[in-house]
Amino acid sequence: MTCEEAVARLYEYLDRELDPGTRRRVRQHLARCRPCTDKVHFEAYFLAQLRRCLVSERAPASLYRRLEALVAAVRVK
Ligand SMILES: [Zn+2]
Repeated sequence: MTCEEAVARLYEYLDRELDPGTRRRVRQHLARCRPCTDKVHFEAYFLAQLRRCLVSERAPASLYRRLEALVAAVRVK
């Protein structure tokens, strides 16, 4: 599996919507690919924060600033 293929399946992977075979191939790719692993961690964190925002009335300003800083940090890499 290439990085492109792994990234294309990232959200399904995080949401556990992949079939077991594809899921295993994504995991095998992540095991040997540092850039994709970093991306998964970032996306997983981002999704978790996003879900928190969706269940609360509105995002606290502190959370918004943290996410902004996180996005800026990832762009620098
Ligand atoms: Zn990769």
